[in-house]
Amino acid sequence: MNRGQVVVVGGGLAGVTAALRCAELGFEVRLLEARSRLGGATYSFVRGELVVDTGQHVFLRCYTAYRGLLRRLGVADSISMQPQFRVPVLSPVGRPAVLRRWNLPAPAHLAPSLLDYRMLTVAERARVARTALALRRLDPDDPALDDISLGQWLRQRGESPRAVDALWGLLAVAALNAEPGDASMALATKVFRTGVLDSTDSADIAIPQVPLGQLHGDAAHRALLAAGVDVRVRCKARTIHRSGTGFRIPVRDGVGDSVLTADSVVVAVPHRAAAPLVADLPVPGVAEWGRLSAAPIVNVHVLYDRPVTGLEMAAVLDSPLQWVFDRTAIAGATRGQYLAISLSAAQEHIHARTEDLHDLFVPALRQVFPHARDAQILDFFVTREPNATFRQAPGTAAIRPPARTPVPGLVLAGAWTATGWPDTTEGAVLSGTHAAEVVDLDQRSQRGVEVTA
Ligand SMILES: Cc1cc2nc3c(=O)[nH]c(=O)nc-3n(C[C@H](O)[C@H](O)[C@H](O)COP(=O)(O)OP(=O)(O)OC[C@H]3O[C@@H](n4cnc5c(N)ncnc54)[C@H](O)[C@@H]3O)c2cc1C
Repeated sequence: MNRGQVVVVGGGLAGVTAALRCAELGFEVRLLEARSRLGGATYSFVRGELVVDTGQHVFLRCYTAYRGLLRRLGVADSISMQPQFRVPVLSPVGRPAVLRRWNLPAPAHLAPSLLDYRMLTVAERARVARTALALRRLDPDDPALDDISLGQWLRQRGESPRAVDALWGLLAVAALNAEPGDASMALATKVFRTGVLDSTDSADIAIPQVPLGQLHGDAAHRALLAAGVDVRVRCKARTIHRSGTGFRIPVRDGVGDSVLTADSVVVAVPHRAAAPLVADLPVPGVAEWGRLSAAPIVNVHVLYDRPVTGLEMAAVLDSPLQWVFDRTAIAGATRGQYLAISLSAAQEHIHARTEDLHDLFVPALRQVFPHARDAQILDFFVTREPNATFRQAPGTAAIRPPARTPVPGLVLAGAWTATGWPDTTEGAVLSGTHAAEVVDLDQRSQRGVEVTA
């Protein structure tokens, strides 16, 4: 049964999820994507023999919605999940340490590792353990927590600057794309509770073993076509108008301008693109969306002529390096070793010249990987994502809108909407699933079908 026409605007993970779910619910679905490929913020390009991801992505075992999407796309086998959370932590000025979990009930699963974490003094380790227990009692939905930063809260707890840098910040900067002093305590609570503290295995890290373009974009395109979705790439929605009980959507594609109609529209684009699209419609709070702003991520890519480290992944302290990943096999390199340095909250690097980043990061890699001192660099390049996520600062919880708008049939999705999660692949997929549920419920109530959900 055709239950009506849905147009999904935006082919990132949120839009892909919403389109698939709406098709499964019996709607006739069109997905519009302005670019030439699906996958949104997650994409890859070819450089020489490498297939390069513009930004290293990792996820955690607790990303259940995202993992569900990977299964739905038939690519769940293309990721590698740690059997147990384990992060080597390197420093140019000291011996390496390891953060790992044990098979103990939470929160004891982390205690042995924290108490043994040699990047901190014994007193700092004991305080960190107490702070973790206090954090576990916080409610991420408490609005008061969104008034303060993670850095403020940690200072109030008496955490030392070293503990903030070497433990809390190590995880929070990567998860929230913000320094602790700029990260909402509400979102930090979500990350640390759901991601680390509440259950034994939630923090186990997963890394895609194929380029993101293949994992998300190509697989999504195949799954959408199989589900009967009309996928239109290089097709940009220009605005959205109300028309009777439905919508008119003027679009521009390779052929020219045309107008689509729909009973429901899911707007699954970033906030800066969503605001002009809904400008003609009575959606509350739109003027505030710009305050979500943006935070950059920079990846520095180095191809060596020989292996320089046996580590698949490492975090680095006391260095401009944050996290380093071995991408040799994933990118298809046939010689040497290809490392990607992932730099979150990268305001200081986003406008830096590639030569300057070379002069900063090549010596930094030599400091922590001694074999890099003798290795030749075959390629060095930088990818910059100025709008990688919204700026996940205090005060953002009240700005992020819910999926449902006061306009029946107009639904919002995207990792920036009110998902309860930070701007992540998990948030994007949750938002898409929720958007499809709202389309379904709205359509049932418009047609007078009894709603039991
Ligand atoms: C470098 C980088 C590293 C990251 N690392 C991680 C990580 O390790 N773990 C993690 O969980 N998350 C990470 N993220 C965040 C994660 O990628 C995003 O949260 C998620 O992909 C956002 O998905 P989305 O569908 O909400 O939005 P997007 O992916 O931004 O998709 C929106 C789509 O809408 C399209 N669009 C915009 N306007 C229009 C229009 N008018 N008409 C048609 N189409 C339009 C855009 O072209 C885009 O494809 C990272 C992001 C970046 C950039």
